[in-house]
Amino acid sequence: MKKWYKILIVVLVFLGVAGFVIYTGSDVNKVDISYNDFLTKMESGKVEQVFLSEGSMIKIKLNDDSKNIYYTDNPRKLDFKESLLKNKIKVIEEKNYSTSISTLILLAIFIFIGYKLMKSGNFSAKKGKAYDVSFEEVSINSEKRVCFADIAGNTEAKESVRDIIEFIKNPDKFAYYGARIPRGILFYGPPGTGKTLMAKAIATEAKVSFFVVSGSDFVQMYVGVGASRIRELFTKAREKGKAVIFIDEIDGLAKKRAAKMNSGNEERDQTLNALLTEMSGFTENEGIIVIAATNRIDVLDDAILRPGRFDRQIEIGYPDKNAREMILKLHAKNKPLERKIKLEKVASQTVYFTGAMLENLLNEAAINAAKRNAKKIMELDIDKAFYTVIAGEEKKDKSHILERDKEITAYHEAGHALITKILCPENKVSKVTIIPSTRGTGGFTMNIPPDKMYATKADIRKQIQIYLSGRVAEEITFGYENITTGASNDIERATKMMMDYIRKFGMSEKFGLVNLDVIAGNEYVNSGVEKDIMRECIISINELYKETKELMNGNIHHLKAVASALLLKETINEGELDVLIGS
Ligand code: ATP
Repeated sequence: MKKWYKILIVVLVFLGVAGFVIYTGSDVNKVDISYNDFLTKMESGKVEQVFLSEGSMIKIKLNDDSKNIYYTDNPRKLDFKESLLKNKIKVIEEKNYSTSISTLILLAIFIFIGYKLMKSGNFSAKKGKAYDVSFEEVSINSEKRVCFADIAGNTEAKESVRDIIEFIKNPDKFAYYGARIPRGILFYGPPGTGKTLMAKAIATEAKVSFFVVSGSDFVQMYVGVGASRIRELFTKAREKGKAVIFIDEIDGLAKKRAAKMNSGNEERDQTLNALLTEMSGFTENEGIIVIAATNRIDVLDDAILRPGRFDRQIEIGYPDKNAREMILKLHAKNKPLERKIKLEKVASQTVYFTGAMLENLLNEAAINAAKRNAKKIMELDIDKAFYTVIAGEEKKDKSHILERDKEITAYHEAGHALITKILCPENKVSKVTIIPSTRGTGGFTMNIPPDKMYATKADIRKQIQIYLSGRVAEEITFGYENITTGASNDIERATKMMMDYIRKFGMSEKFGLVNLDVIAGNEYVNSGVEKDIMRECIISINELYKETKELMNGNIHHLKAVASALLLKETINEGELDVLIGS
């Protein structure tokens, strides 16, 4: 039974017994008499004491030897007491204990119900958190500090925040050039990829205090409390001069309007407004930087992504094989691993593991070794831990992804990379990866065309071929029956581009120099035009698809080389791609 129930029962029983004793305890022989009888007894001098109370009855004690207590109706006359006294009767005024006790019982019940409601969260913030939000301050000298050396991988994110650190350390340098410090940085990516770690490291590297608060703590709070906590947080940070304020799970207080139709709107709006006001209240180059983190950038209110707010958005995604190996090495440092264990191999077996999962993997392996009382952590400990970590993860986690899916993604991306290199050698293909992005794609090929004012007819046709090349690679490698849904986004983009080519740019030979949007929008025009446009679009895309297929068939060994490299390393850069494809 819950503790509070026990206390409630004890209190009620105690009050009940006390009431019973007081109310009935001494009145063992109770005798009711009529009021007239009482008057007769009084006149004949038989009444010794009368107990006056506010109740409906009064108690009477006679001067006989019996232990009886007599009760009669309370006349409730103003001069009743006086008439008693005149008859030389002792009058004792009693408190009405029965009323007081029932009041006490009721009061106790109300206090308990109120207390439980408060605790259960109906009136408050989160369970156990009593309607308040706390923020943690990690001071410059704290042992809890994390620095860049504690983060393995995340190289791009680290690079993107280096200037911020420099800014915080040396704002005057940037002020000299008229540069403004970014007000807010938003880290987004799957849980456990090191967003908090990165924010902490920025504060350490910049040698400033670190304040951390979670957006989810603001859910269901009293109106106004969140806003005042935000102001308090910023005041504290300003007192430090320079600081990093980290708001984890910012979606807790900055969800899009449509997504927050339920309760707590007003409070969340007020809290968010307080945050935005504080952020815009910084004087330039004050040295306070706000970092927020979320797993769901898509649900955030646009208001917070506007310039001057969280305008620098940095993705912290799944680590690739290299990064995984580095993370494993970092967390293996304080663990007695058997020499035989090759962390590179573990890294290749842990596709789609986040940093947190890798840390957890080694920790579970260490626990397994400790349970066996073994001297060293062995491969079998890691194997066992592997299943514990995977089983503990939610289904949506992709660690269980099939080898076959990996292969499909590798060939698909290799197709994009190869055709880009062949058709548009001037484009920069800075990264090809089969690690899924948080935006939902299986892998991606970063293809940046050179800056140009205009796109030529040939450019557009080549770009459409690049879009189609993922599907071409799938068909050539796995057969027409095994093409996948992975190309749907590419097909959509290819179709849109071809429609613009025909309708807007006047580039198709069949329709020539007209803007078909203008013509088709004219009600006098035969609606058959739309059908013709559609047919032309389909024919042209199919032609380009055939051309791309021929091109890829002629370079099939390159396709295989790039796909194999992707399967091995998961991510390859431009230099590696050039080596694989040749000039
Ligand atoms: P969430 O979105 O759930 O808040 P997060 O992205 O903020 O997660 P962290 O809390 O920073 O993730 O990481 C959790 C733990 O995972 C870290 O304390 C660390 O042990 C480990 N970890 C994650 N990424 C890395 C990394 N790149 N290098 C080393 N350790 C890492």
